[in-house]
Amino acid sequence: MALKIWLDGKLVDEDEAKVSVFDHGLLYGDGVFEGIRFYSGRVFRLEEHISRLFDSAKAILLKMPWTHKEVCDSVCETIAANGLVDGYVRLVVTRGAGGLGLNPYLCETPSMFVIASSITLYPEEHYANGLSLVTCSTRRPTHGSLSPQVKSLNYLNNVMAKVEALKAGAMEGVMLNEQGCVAECTGDNLFILKNGKIRTPRISDGALDGITRAVIFELAEELGIPMTEETLTRYDLYTSEECFLSGTAAEVIPVVAIDERPIGDGQVGETFKKFLEAFRKLTQSTGTPVGGA
Ligand code: PMP
Repeated sequence: MALKIWLDGKLVDEDEAKVSVFDHGLLYGDGVFEGIRFYSGRVFRLEEHISRLFDSAKAILLKMPWTHKEVCDSVCETIAANGLVDGYVRLVVTRGAGGLGLNPYLCETPSMFVIASSITLYPEEHYANGLSLVTCSTRRPTHGSLSPQVKSLNYLNNVMAKVEALKAGAMEGVMLNEQGCVAECTGDNLFILKNGKIRTPRISDGALDGITRAVIFELAEELGIPMTEETLTRYDLYTSEECFLSGTAAEVIPVVAIDERPIGDGQVGETFKKFLEAFRKLTQSTGTPVGGA
């Protein structure tokens, strides 16, 4: 069945959901986006995602013509219109159609579209058996270039890093910053366990301020496991006892090897299993009701 897409305020069939070839989102990657999950008819951390979207837009001088509430409502409307209960939402805001030059001020008005679908990222066996990662040579952009905090449509760095990982036979790749310290993975934040403590790279080291990352901090507190942000090197990853990733699409997923070094005993860790259980409980019991928009 054809999906209903929310496009600039209207729900249209996917065949009719079109943006201009002059849109600067397409011509220059000039725009911002969010990936959002919904579980059992409730959108997980909707407010947080939309706040981050507005922050990304503000950082690139993209003036949103919709209010925070209108954007939240568009997500719920799209899910409801497609009769979905569990799935993933991709919300994209582009600079809009303009001239062939870079000048964003020649773009008339931003475009926004919302796609809701039932796809998920990783098959269940990866949650049970864990992923093997490789370190990519493609670096995370520095704060001095395109801020790694902006979830922009300019994802080529991450795409190239993902290609490196896939070519090496890995499902995900570790991205370092220009100093050679660990930033995150191509679409997920990264965590290690050593001596009973969880450590994750600092935002200032190039990690995205992930919504799921924030959930991991909350769950660590709930589970009574100490957790800190730290500058991490590949050595820290190789010598960790457990490693796992977090992201909206991936949720929380275990890592059992990095650059051919087994993590801990090479099996999915017991601490990770506690996080997975707590995370799944949380996603099933909280969120913004789709029907309540
Ligand atoms: N890092 C990058 C580069 C990402 O694209 C994502 C996914 N949005 C994440 C981390 C995880 O962030 P979140 O938990 O907000 O999905």
